[in-house]
Amino acid sequence: DSFTARSLGDKKEKTLAMIKPDAVDKMGMILDMISHKGLLVTKAKMVLLSRAEAAQFYIEHQSKPFFNGLLDYVTSGPVVAMEIMGGNAIGVWRELIGPTNPSDARSQNSQSLRAKFGTDNTRNAVHGSDSKESATRETEFFFPSAGPSRANTAQFTNCTCCV
Ligand code: GDP
Ligand code: MG
Repeated sequence: DSFTARSLGDKKEKTLAMIKPDAVDKMGMILDMISHKGLLVTKAKMVLLSRAEAAQFYIEHQSKPFFNGLLDYVTSGPVVAMEIMGGNAIGVWRELIGPTNPSDARSQNSQSLRAKFGTDNTRNAVHGSDSKESATRETEFFFPSAGPSRANTAQFTNCTCCV
């Protein structure tokens, strides 16, 4: 709400979060946990990625042995992509999602999203950008700042309550 937006002040770091297909039915609980961390969802959309789009998103992993399985997984159903904003958003969101492998997540901190909702090393429920550079690239991937989709994209961060 607008009170939350105002209270963010200069805490405007942005990251790209993605709810992967196996966890889309947990979206309500995930949004709740984002709110409880003081982060704000500033853009969101549900999309079924093509294999080519998924390969582009995960280009850094193209030579990894798990790449094809990863593409099978993230194209198996719709994902929910979100730009989330707040103080240290990249780090706070990475901490909230937990380690890549849900078994590690469960042994380290059972409150993380991967601990709660992940199944195995591939099907781990959620994605988070790991650096400012990847946050910028991945946010631009789902929410391009130029081009035909812009007209349909709510520009929350430019509204009068938080500029
Ligand atoms: P993340 O940043 O924690 O998501 O992990 P990575 O960037 O290293 O990997 C991207 C995604 O590929 C992970 O979230 C998993 O879905 C999958 N993945 C990563 N490492 C492995 C692995 O060793 N085996 C398998 N099967 N999948 C993996
Ligand atoms: Mg990664």
